[in-house]
Amino acid sequence: MNYKVLYRKYRPSDFENIVGQDYIIKTLKNSIKNGNISHAYIFSGPRGTGKTSTAKVFAKAINCLNSKDGDPCGECDFCLNFAENPDIIEIDAASNNGVDEIRTLIDNVKLTPTNGKYKVYIIDEVHMLSTSAFNALLLTLEEPPAHSIFILATTNIENVPITILSRCQRFDFQKIKIDDIVNRLKTVCEKESIDIEDEALQEIAELSDGGMRDSLSLLDQLSKNGQKITLELIEKQIKTISQKSINDFLNTIEDNDFNKCLEIINDYRMRAVDYKTLIKKIITIASKKAKNIKLNGKIQRLNDKDYKNLVLKLAESLTKININVDSYTILEMYLLDFFETNNSNQNTITEEEKNVIIEQPKEMQEESIREENRKENVKIDNSLIDIRINNCFVGAQKKYLEEAKEDLSNYSSSINITGKIKAIMLDSTVVAASNTNLILTCKNEHNIDTANNMLNTIEESIQNEINKQYKLIFISESRWQKEREKYIVNIKNKVQYKLLDEVVKEVDDNIAINDVFDKSKVEII
Ligand SMILES: [Zn+2]
Repeated sequence: MNYKVLYRKYRPSDFENIVGQDYIIKTLKNSIKNGNISHAYIFSGPRGTGKTSTAKVFAKAINCLNSKDGDPCGECDFCLNFAENPDIIEIDAASNNGVDEIRTLIDNVKLTPTNGKYKVYIIDEVHMLSTSAFNALLLTLEEPPAHSIFILATTNIENVPITILSRCQRFDFQKIKIDDIVNRLKTVCEKESIDIEDEALQEIAELSDGGMRDSLSLLDQLSKNGQKITLELIEKQIKTISQKSINDFLNTIEDNDFNKCLEIINDYRMRAVDYKTLIKKIITIASKKAKNIKLNGKIQRLNDKDYKNLVLKLAESLTKININVDSYTILEMYLLDFFETNNSNQNTITEEEKNVIIEQPKEMQEESIREENRKENVKIDNSLIDIRINNCFVGAQKKYLEEAKEDLSNYSSSINITGKIKAIMLDSTVVAASNTNLILTCKNEHNIDTANNMLNTIEESIQNEINKQYKLIFISESRWQKEREKYIVNIKNKVQYKLLDEVVKEVDDNIAINDVFDKSKVEII
């Protein structure tokens, strides 16, 4: 059997196949085309991002007998015999004999190349060299022979002496984008006839954290037994946690379901999921949520600050894992703390607020904890979106809905409606209506913020066109589903909806929706 591990087999042999480092490749190719080659380079960046592969292709291209456009031809004697070429010298500074090899290298550096134009020295993990090895290397870099080129690679540029750095042309390799990794993996799977589901491709790419080599090693490992590669297989074999699993976990927090949260943690514990990896993933996803909520100004049960607090708590839990206790127990306690803080914040409703939120029958207040959760949903957040949804429900009737549909259909088809408003109207559907308030959903989430940022403009335009005074609010379809369910529960429980004052009267179209919803600016009278 001539089995080659995938990452070796698919190691790029030309610039074109190096993924995700376009700027670096372009610069290197240009320098070859222009014959403007330095004697020392340093490639820094995370593992598996293509530093050594790039160094090798570069070494090939500068020696190639008929390089085209900066690329190695792949056909000349030099290209064909590249792997055995004695003029390409690779040293791993992390290995034990690194220092000896550097000495030998420096002793022989004056010797001219046997085949090509240049002798190329690739020194991997160069930051691992001892001080004396660095000093010896520095002397060579200060006066390099014309035929020698040094390519230093490191995952840890901070530990490379500045004296060395100042002699080198520096290239910083970036983590490879998930999509780029997915595409490359897809190609490899097709060539190797590996059966894999799309979700699994995505998961492997995410797990390898921007490293191509790691992603190929993972693929290798997963493809060994010939089974179709699925998310379940990955979870089982790598003892890891899929994105979906993390989302389920975060949903328990979003749903305020501590029970379910503990269940999931216990599942991680039983599967001996690596604690650090798990927390790192949760932190990554929770911070993304926090940022998205802040950026989109969407309102949900947990806001960006809640997610920020969660992330900080989780990060803090990482500092405790050296204590000789099950890390998951520590996690549970941190989460317990989070749930408690989070709920006490939710319960601090002022007496004034109680008067303006939906009235709750007394008996409801004495129900079980599960009911408590539901009641929380009854609470109206004091934002314009929530107020307008509430106010629409106060007088919502089917006949108004039908009327509104017809009105907006007439309005949208008017020749005066163009541009942004037209796009919004075509994308939206009236889902609830009173005689004054309409709730609309947008298919395209992006339109929601745009629309809510220009409510005054749209409302005025409606009045001008069809002489109707509607107050609108735009929400996502998924939000509408939730609002509708809440509404049905409330109606069943005979909860009375009361009209809420809109305190944000003048919504300037130029003010971002975030500002409008800043709690300090929205007061309940
Ligand atoms: Zn060639």
